[in-house]
Amino acid sequence: MTKEYKNYINGKWVASSSGEIFENTNPANCNEVLGRFQKSNKKDVDKAVAAAAKAKKMWRETPAPKRGEIMYKVAELLVKHKESLAQDMTKEMGKIIAETRGDVQEAIDLTYFAAGEGRRMAGETVPSELKNKFAMSVRMPLGVVACVTPWNFPLAIPSWKLIPALICGNTAVIKPAEDTPLTVVNFMNIFEKAGLPPGVVNMVTGFGPDAGAPLVEHKDVDMVSFTGSTQTGAGIASACAQRMKQYSLEMGGKNAIIIMDDANLSLALEGVMFGAFGTTGQRCTACSRVVIHKKVAKKFTDMLVERAKKLKLGNGLDEKVDMGPLINDKAREKVHRYVQIGKDEGAKLLTGGNYANGKVLKNGWFYQPTVFADVDSKMRIAQEEIFGPVVGVIACSSFEEAVDIVNDSSYGLSSAIYTQDVNRAFKAIETLETGLTYVNASTIGAEIQLPFGGIKGTGNGHREVGIAALETFSEWKSVFVDYSGKLQKAQIDHD
Ligand code: NAD
Repeated sequence: MTKEYKNYINGKWVASSSGEIFENTNPANCNEVLGRFQKSNKKDVDKAVAAAAKAKKMWRETPAPKRGEIMYKVAELLVKHKESLAQDMTKEMGKIIAETRGDVQEAIDLTYFAAGEGRRMAGETVPSELKNKFAMSVRMPLGVVACVTPWNFPLAIPSWKLIPALICGNTAVIKPAEDTPLTVVNFMNIFEKAGLPPGVVNMVTGFGPDAGAPLVEHKDVDMVSFTGSTQTGAGIASACAQRMKQYSLEMGGKNAIIIMDDANLSLALEGVMFGAFGTTGQRCTACSRVVIHKKVAKKFTDMLVERAKKLKLGNGLDEKVDMGPLINDKAREKVHRYVQIGKDEGAKLLTGGNYANGKVLKNGWFYQPTVFADVDSKMRIAQEEIFGPVVGVIACSSFEEAVDIVNDSSYGLSSAIYTQDVNRAFKAIETLETGLTYVNASTIGAEIQLPFGGIKGTGNGHREVGIAALETFSEWKSVFVDYSGKLQKAQIDHD
């Protein structure tokens, strides 16, 4: 009998009000049902938000170092359960076990980092314009934070939102992606074991329109933190704007690696392989464009095709496998549609371009690693997010042209340059219109102690992780303490 998992509301595991259930399956073997989950609706969301709202006062009054102590326990439990969390994640999401271990490790690193912030939560103290007066600023929680998360980083992204939100004194409700609810159920178990008081964190599983939308629109939700597609994010932005809610959005990408004629091509090849085919191309920071100097384009493309053909596809639990399946059938159809579009647009398909078949592979949502050459920046395959193992090679004649091509995008998440020329590298850092830039490294591999996020169509200016996350999940209060015992007026009246 397949196990049923409940919603986590007010410290209790509860069934959905409708009694409806949905199942998740293993994308490497689509007949394997992993679990049965609550198909939540507005009524369940109302209960979860009510629990978070009730816990708000108690939690914000809990001293931040005490909140941090609970987060240290969360981190220790994540360490303890790292392998089982990674295995469950590979089963429900498909990415290879080395990557799901990395996903858990990101959550661990972030949790330790943010727990330490519980002892800092730094504000400012500045000199007042007046005698016998203190002027300072402190961070205040926002209230109830709603977190809506995608399936490609089933633990890391929920941790990026929940841990900083909680350390700042907010309470939270999370609606995980419908393809990967099990990992967030496991995360809730860890919060429970760590002794987080009831109502501080709550989870409702279910689908976007039924559970995500009522959560975002709920009058008692003060802030929404969303990661997912640009299309869904745009809808969430307008729902929040109409209700004067704060919101932070992390959305799609169309990331590029520049390879100059002086680059170490073997190193660049490793970067492109990792960026294009890691997580089966399903990363917001995936490299889907290689912008390469024409002098080395042919040589590099031959190297890339040779390596792409050698990738071993299969079940991500097998340590020898390089690339797992796509998340579901819709994703695979979308990738295949884009391959057809690329061919119709005149790009040259060098390898891949079809569903992967074979004894094992035919049971899962596998797609061949795919390389296009002769790609033009205006083509749809160079402009739109494919979210699969497809990379297009665009030839250029100069560094300046390469930068223009990278910037010719509605997205602005990640970029990279391979070159031996330090002047060019710094010019690239200055001119590439992305939230992350790598030099002689792939487009993927951010570290949690620095801000993560994108510009243009990728984000709305907020950042996750690093100290910047405290900005996202708190607001400032300026405080003036006058101990002169008389009415003092500032030289310039600001009020
Ligand atoms: P998605 O937008 O389909 O879904 C994301 C979440 O939103 C899910 O939990 C879904 O149930 C929910 N949702 C859907 N419709 C909703 C609605 N109307 N109201 C409220 N919630 C709703 O995205 P996805 O397919 O899960 O994720 C892939 C996308 O996420 C890609 O575009 C990828 O680039 C992006 N992503 C971005 C980052 C980043 O940091 N920039 C990181 C990871 C993924």
